[in-house]
Amino acid sequence: MTQLNQTHDAQLTSWVPSAQALGCDFPIQNLPFGRFQIQAKQDDWRIGVAIGDQILDLRSALSVVAWPAEVARMLGPLAAGDLNAHMAESSVNRSALRAALSTSLQTGSAHQAALAKCLVAQSDAQMSVPCRIGDYTDFFTSIHHATSVGKLFRPDNPLLPNYKYVPIGYHGRASSINVSGTNFKRPLGQILPPGQETPVFAPSKRLDYELELAAYIRASNVQGEPISMVDAEDALFGLGLLNDWSARDVQAWEYQPLGPFLAKSFASTVSPWVVTMEALAPFRLPFTRAEGDPQPMPYLTSKANSDSGAINITLEVWLQTKTMADAGAPAARLSTSNFAEASYWTLAQLVAHHTVNGCNLQVGDMFGSGTQSGPKLDEGGSLLELSKGGKQPVELPNGERRTFLEDGDTVILRGYCQSPDGSPSHVRIGLGEVRATVLPARVG
Ligand code: CA
Repeated sequence: MTQLNQTHDAQLTSWVPSAQALGCDFPIQNLPFGRFQIQAKQDDWRIGVAIGDQILDLRSALSVVAWPAEVARMLGPLAAGDLNAHMAESSVNRSALRAALSTSLQTGSAHQAALAKCLVAQSDAQMSVPCRIGDYTDFFTSIHHATSVGKLFRPDNPLLPNYKYVPIGYHGRASSINVSGTNFKRPLGQILPPGQETPVFAPSKRLDYELELAAYIRASNVQGEPISMVDAEDALFGLGLLNDWSARDVQAWEYQPLGPFLAKSFASTVSPWVVTMEALAPFRLPFTRAEGDPQPMPYLTSKANSDSGAINITLEVWLQTKTMADAGAPAARLSTSNFAEASYWTLAQLVAHHTVNGCNLQVGDMFGSGTQSGPKLDEGGSLLELSKGGKQPVELPNGERRTFLEDGDTVILRGYCQSPDGSPSHVRIGLGEVRATVLPARVG
């Protein structure tokens, strides 16, 4: 588990003024990585670090400062747009780069004049997915989501008996993961209309979002050699936001007996910035299992995980319909939940479980956390939950109603960490946002 160090100091400020703006997701204590090109130039991809409303372009930064040799070596692949190479660096090395970037961006840094020329406004950047994602596995870690969705699909048997023993997951598609801002067409598929016995082929009428975290893997274990709980935390590089779009009507017809398939694989959208596990260190919480519930098996248990396996991340879903956008009305918040409260399993447990059979992970693999629904009814991380399976429309501020998504709807997920009591001991850091708009289905 990452220890706190000088890069987490709440007193640090940056010479980039917007990093100190109230509610800013990217103060100097965050320093997340993203992959971008400068929109107007359409030039080479490079990795940058978000600071305030700017990006420190590591491609330009490499050549304007006399970095220590080890830092310069690590900046090489980043300058070339390769985050995966950096993810594979040891925790000591990654921490050294973070410390160097933190020092350089601090108020009073000797590098200010040189690095000020390496800033790119985030509004001028074209982002891509942050790394080469080889495989994508989606989990199902919120017991509240599992129970309320289970109730809709199986009223008499909502939570299946394996849930409290096994971190449930399935293999998703990496090919259809897009970065925030990439809109997508409503999918078509096989749907069984209510009360009928044969399916029709049609555009999904029950298109939904799922509020998830994306965890990026930095380890590559040899096939046959599991990653134990002791090493599982070090297999994690960082977190972003993930919207795992879902066609509920397609899902209901296809999901038995092998689970999700075309209802999920048409599009998934991730936020552009990866917040490192080191940046998240101040927001760790103990992992506890309710008394009376089965304790995790030994291969899913470690002292470090019990002490600080959970992470306090507030998550939000916002919706802006086309009518709202046309009227200049802002997005409306649909729900809020918290990762530590929603999730029945920790990220380290997902790593240990995924590899316990000998399955090999690769650098750049992405884990979806599963929909992060809280225990209360209005904390559902999907419209399926908020609309009680489509029976109770959600009311929007302008009088519009939604049971599921309509064409032109824009869904925005946000996430941030702050001290639970709002105390200034740790500076608030954010994951940024992931947004995309539903386009009409392909015709014919
Ligand atoms: Ca999902």
